[in-house]
Amino acid sequence: MDEKRTVYLDYSATTPVKPEVLEQMIPFFTQNFGNPSSLYQQGLYAKMAVEEAREKVAALINAEPREIYFTGGGSESDNWVLEGIADQLKNKGKHIITSKIEHHAILHTCAYLEKHGFDVTYLDVDKEGFVTPEVLEAAMRDDTILVSVMAVNNEIGTIEPIKELAEVAHKHGALFHTDAVQAVGNIPIDVKEMGIDMLSMSSHKIYGPKGEGGLFLRKGVRIGSFIHGGAQENGKRAGTENLAGIVGFGAAAELARKNLDNHIANLTKIRNHIIKRVTEEIPDVTVNGSLEHRHPGNANFTFKYIEGESILILLDSMGVSVSTGSACSSKSLEPSHVLTAIGVDVESVHGSIRMTVGDMTTMEDADYAVDCLKKVVARLREISSLC
Ligand SMILES: *Cc1c(COP(=O)(O)O)cnc(C)c1O
Repeated sequence: MDEKRTVYLDYSATTPVKPEVLEQMIPFFTQNFGNPSSLYQQGLYAKMAVEEAREKVAALINAEPREIYFTGGGSESDNWVLEGIADQLKNKGKHIITSKIEHHAILHTCAYLEKHGFDVTYLDVDKEGFVTPEVLEAAMRDDTILVSVMAVNNEIGTIEPIKELAEVAHKHGALFHTDAVQAVGNIPIDVKEMGIDMLSMSSHKIYGPKGEGGLFLRKGVRIGSFIHGGAQENGKRAGTENLAGIVGFGAAAELARKNLDNHIANLTKIRNHIIKRVTEEIPDVTVNGSLEHRHPGNANFTFKYIEGESILILLDSMGVSVSTGSACSSKSLEPSHVLTAIGVDVESVHGSIRMTVGDMTTMEDADYAVDCLKKVVARLREISSLC
């Protein structure tokens, strides 16, 4: 190999902060550092910046600004909404429905609620990762208070039929929440048109800073406070605002809204090129997830006979960052719950990698990564055939 390039292909794990976003954040660390709760000029200015960011985040999903609550990220939004709604409606019913392919921020919160007397149904998905309205319909009960299904899966990129699922939930008198962390800024989301009651989002997945996120609560949805203290966020999420973080999230949301069509077109083109080359040039590979209803930047492959973990490590040595479905690296040997749920067989489930492209990815990056992947897969298969 000649010169070493670095190619980041893990935009679903996190994104870099865009320079335009950082530029808007910087004054809020040093000059405009006022506490938004203070009543003099500095405070009022900070308060205005927070409210302006709220408008920008609201606009991205067609919500009203007062329906947006700033949080410490996607995980916090997921925790708050599930625990808060469960607590609010526990006298009405104790049944919650979610899917088997949710992010752990949802699954582990559901497990916590199960320990506290709630009954949770984890819906099966089909081979492409779809939660169908029929499967949801069959699981609805008189005591179902809440349905939570993600808008876009973070591993395989499948886009769920959110509008149809929300309709089923409402028909039975339940609220509908969606974890839209991977969806917001990557596909059009309209909470009104889609009938969404609650929605979670995260700043660092849309080129904003880490540790900042949002929860959309439709006007009329009642929920208790997540952090008790001051009157920030309408008294529901106390603590002095992460001012620069909120400004950055707002700036990122505005850019995402304005660039959405271009963003989708560019990512789709590069992602399709990767899928085409990998499936044509590498034998014994399958693409996981739906090809039709898919996150524009997501490619997820299963390679027979080898481990995703080994692919990841060798690609890393060539400067290419990807992620793997098997979680050996995260101390457990559990295969990905998402790949297991879509029926990837036990022998192949450890041979998966996810490549996610983003706004800074070029066609040359994609070609370099595929060239490396070809070499890595060939080398690992040679070794595994010797064993
Ligand atoms: C990243 C992610 C989260 C967690 O968001 P954080 O802001 O990192 O806490 C939740 N759900 C999905 C689907 C994600 O991809």
